[in-house]
Amino acid sequence: MSLTLAIVGRPNVGKSTLFNRLVGKRLALVDDQPGVTRDLREGEARLGDLRFTVIDTAGLEEATDDSLQGRMRRLTERAVEMADVALFVIDARVGVSPADEVFADILRRKGGTVLLAANKAEGRAAEAGLLEAYALGLGEPLALSAEHGEGMAELAGMLRPLI
Ligand code: GDP
Ligand code: MG
Repeated sequence: MSLTLAIVGRPNVGKSTLFNRLVGKRLALVDDQPGVTRDLREGEARLGDLRFTVIDTAGLEEATDDSLQGRMRRLTERAVEMADVALFVIDARVGVSPADEVFADILRRKGGTVLLAANKAEGRAAEAGLLEAYALGLGEPLALSAEHGEGMAELAGMLRPLI
């Protein structure tokens, strides 16, 4: 059995940066397939010795304010339904925003396995946000820097028992 991980969270927290780090150039193969929508990107992830499928929820960035709530809810629900595990990403430099709370609610309602990651955690500017993340009640946040590749071994450690 292989694991499917959905990367979810509000726009601009670094989901696609993490997706790209996990999938790299192998995404090109997936993009060529028909029926792959712009809103959910799927790729084959490599993380150390782990291999799994990863889904990036994109397309929220272009939504108008009006449609954002409904759209992000539908997209996130779809991604979570397709996945075995949801990786909920927040921005450690911002802390927990109202939009993050909306996502946390969606994930709690959906049930299933949720891992919490506080991205952009490189440097001291992230310390307060990382602490705030505990208040989401989704367990211990994983400090990540998708851009700088920090926390990847810890992410692998969280995923390994689930694969
Ligand atoms: P998405 O909307 O959640 O997919 O976010 P993106 O992956 O498009 O990233 C949004 C912005 O955050 C971009 O400017 C990224 O370069 C930046 N970013 C992503 N990961 C990190 C990180 O680990 N640290 C910092 N400082 N910036 C990051
Ligand atoms: Mg994105």
